[in-house]
Amino acid sequence: MAAGSDTLVRFQGVEKSYDGVRFAVRHLDLDIARGEFLTLLGPSGSGKTTTLMMLAGFEQPTAGEILLEGRPIARLPPHKRGIGVVFQSYALFPHMTVGENVGFPLSVRGIGRAERDRRVARALDMVRLPDYGARRPSQLSGGQQQRVALARALVFEPPLVLLDEPLGALDKQLREEMQLEIRHIHERLGVTMVYVTHDQSEALTMSDRIAVFRDGAIRQLDTPQALYERPADAFVAGFVGENNRLAGRVAERDGDMAAIVLADGRRLWARRADAGAEGSPAILSVRPERIAVAAAAADDLGENALAATVAEVIYLGDHVRVRLSLADGAEITAKRPASAAMAGLVPGAAVAVAWQPEHAVAFAP
Ligand code: ADP
Ligand code: MG
Repeated sequence: MAAGSDTLVRFQGVEKSYDGVRFAVRHLDLDIARGEFLTLLGPSGSGKTTTLMMLAGFEQPTAGEILLEGRPIARLPPHKRGIGVVFQSYALFPHMTVGENVGFPLSVRGIGRAERDRRVARALDMVRLPDYGARRPSQLSGGQQQRVALARALVFEPPLVLLDEPLGALDKQLREEMQLEIRHIHERLGVTMVYVTHDQSEALTMSDRIAVFRDGAIRQLDTPQALYERPADAFVAGFVGENNRLAGRVAERDGDMAAIVLADGRRLWARRADAGAEGSPAILSVRPERIAVAAAAADDLGENALAATVAEVIYLGDHVRVRLSLADGAEITAKRPASAAMAGLVPGAAVAVAWQPEHAVAFAP
């Protein structure tokens, strides 16, 4: 099948094994659209860097093919692929000035002095380091060095930029600033960016789409909202955002919904993700902000509600987190706006917890 005109990159059955025994990437089919911000998200060792390095040309697939603009790139060396790369470590040349570092990709491409200076100045402007060209990398902070690395990846105006955990070494505030800056640069230049992170909140903040990796394969590829609201399996639900898990069995299936029966016999309806047939074990997952907490006696519980005892209430300014114990000893956490928290929400209080069936998801364990 030919790649569509809005497909910039296509991975086709790509596999990678470094040692011929274990697979770093198992079987990858992935289309990257022109202009999108795609994030590869997953735990350490799940194959994100390997995927990025195969696209950049620093690693070769063991099987399968990568197409760029519809053309196989297996034989193209990295510098002929027209791809900007920001590596996991900054990888600036310590003996060169900032300006020489940023100009390096232009020198390699034989671009003359005057043009080079002009483009370097523009790239440093873009990352808000206009007056730093004469400094050495060692004279810059971590955040500034990472901006230089970004300028170096952008300076030859590649249509595709790959970034491998570029903000991993920065503190939280600087990281959040840089997330927005990179996102703004993406919007302004219209380049395609493929971004690697193991930080789910970073992925949710920055991406048009997120590919969730586990063990060298993509478990789900979706928009941030779809990933959060409709996780495909228990791994994705646990990796993206917080979730409560209740163990049970599938009691009944009805279209997209499934009734899960808990150990104490209560039935709860949920959207069925990959939960199996009637009788098979299942996990019911629900986000903390979807759980309503109300005063109620155990015997007048409505549909889809559980009796619980308040274990702890943690005040966090704009919201409260309520830890609750269920009858069978399981624990769940609810997150409520501080303004909407009920009176009498104190440890030991007997309450009912409830949520809409469509806000719960039933998974295979
Ligand atoms: P991630 O970036 O998601 O942390 P990697 O792609 O770096 O994952 O690694 C995937 C798997 O491949 C891991 O098991 C890792 O140990 C292995 N691996 C990565 N690079 C090499 C290498 N150069 N040689 C051998 N094994 C490697
Ligand atoms: Mg990595």
